[in-house]
Amino acid sequence: MRYYILFGPPGAGKGTQAKQIVEKYHYLHLSTGDLLRQEMAAGTELGKKAAELINRGDLVPDEVVEGMIRNKIASNRDVAGFLFDGFPRTIAQAEALDAMLTEFGGKVDAVLSLTLPDELVYERILHRAQIEGRKDDTDRSIIENRIATYHDKTEPLISYYKGHGNYREIQGNDTIENVFTALCGILDE
Ligand code: ADP
Repeated sequence: MRYYILFGPPGAGKGTQAKQIVEKYHYLHLSTGDLLRQEMAAGTELGKKAAELINRGDLVPDEVVEGMIRNKIASNRDVAGFLFDGFPRTIAQAEALDAMLTEFGGKVDAVLSLTLPDELVYERILHRAQIEGRKDDTDRSIIENRIATYHDKTEPLISYYKGHGNYREIQGNDTIENVFTALCGILDE
């Protein structure tokens, strides 16, 4: 069983690339953002709590996303692999993931890190707002908070994975096709 992390700032193209990767490799795509949006759409208690945080551009608590991921891994033991997208987002989540995968007899096979400068992050999110209409994409101060949260809480994972595993960087500022080719090159190794 393979375990890959698709990593990068908001708007780096993780969702777009994840779709193409799972089509080609038949991995299970686990996007914590998508899972949380499903809870929000269903109006569950968890969804209501998450909505408040997400619509401010803050992270939801580690235990919440760790629990969602654990359930998905535990209930899908017959897939070729997993592609995590938007998880882990904090050092605590990365440590929890390492512990979980050890339990399931696996490890993070590679961290596929899409890079994108802040100016482009901002542009891409505003563009996506017009297409997808996500509330957290529409407001300047929310987007700024998400970018700041990324630098503060998520970017430290780069050194974590450089020290702990197979960290691979791909320029996100390229065509969808070129980024996909670069990702496949790593996945095919
Ligand atoms: P983006 O396109 O900004 O990367 P996502 O769809 O991955 O957005 O996530 C949207 C929001 O959901 C995040 O801004 C955050 O509030 C919440 N979220 C998603 N994944 C996590 C996570 N692993 N830990 C905490 N919060 C998360």
